[in-house]
Amino acid sequence: CGIVGYAGSRPALTIVLDGLRRLEYRGYDSAGVAIVDDVLRTAKRAGKLANLEKALQSEDGLDTGTTGIGHTRWATHGGPTDRNAHPHRSVDGRVAVIHNGIIENFAKLRTELEQQGIEFASDTDTECAAHLLSFEVSRSSVEDPAERLADAMRAVCRRLEGAFTLLAVDAQAPGAVVGARRNSPLVVGRGEGENYLASDVAAFIEHTREAVELGQDQVVLITGDAIVITDFLGNPAEGKDFHINWDI
Ligand code: GLU
Repeated sequence: CGIVGYAGSRPALTIVLDGLRRLEYRGYDSAGVAIVDDVLRTAKRAGKLANLEKALQSEDGLDTGTTGIGHTRWATHGGPTDRNAHPHRSVDGRVAVIHNGIIENFAKLRTELEQQGIEFASDTDTECAAHLLSFEVSRSSVEDPAERLADAMRAVCRRLEGAFTLLAVDAQAPGAVVGARRNSPLVVGRGEGENYLASDVAAFIEHTREAVELGQDQVVLITGDAIVITDFLGNPAEGKDFHINWDI
């Protein structure tokens, strides 16, 4: 339902939680975050953001990482429970994924993954994207870790049908957040030494008013100082630059 991502040099957790709060008006049933530091850590809970914040008090280490993603969920596949809340992680724990929308061919993908021995930890359509992404990052030949995550995301998107805004982080690509969209919105917020991703500009408007709207079937890689947009095949692409001039 609501999606926020941050890459920069400030602690990501506060920025991501503030962003999620600004998207609360859309309604949601669960919330979660993934933060990359020296390792990738996630926390997620059914219920209001306050439940997640309570859970965060007993988790160590999420407050220092400067790369992060956050999600508020409106359940479509799988009930509103802790385990179905996003982010979803791959079995090896390496990647974490959040998703808005519906992956129409998830049942087929899930069966295929289960036949390969993957045990699912949720009832969502989203989780298959996390397992596929981990498979693709580990077999990608791209050397740069951030570019490799983007390359893997493109490969995953080529297999997905339906509507999705996806964000992902990789424990081995600290400093990078990758996003993708089809039939569901995704905007980039341009900062100085930091960049944002969100399903709605409201999430980052207190930090920047320079935005880029991604086009259909595009993948974006953000780091603190770069925004790289391609299509699902890896060809360079452009989003639509705009200035947000409405008041908060
Ligand atoms: N289909 C996903 C789920 O049920 C995402 C729902 C959403 O857009 O929040 O978990």
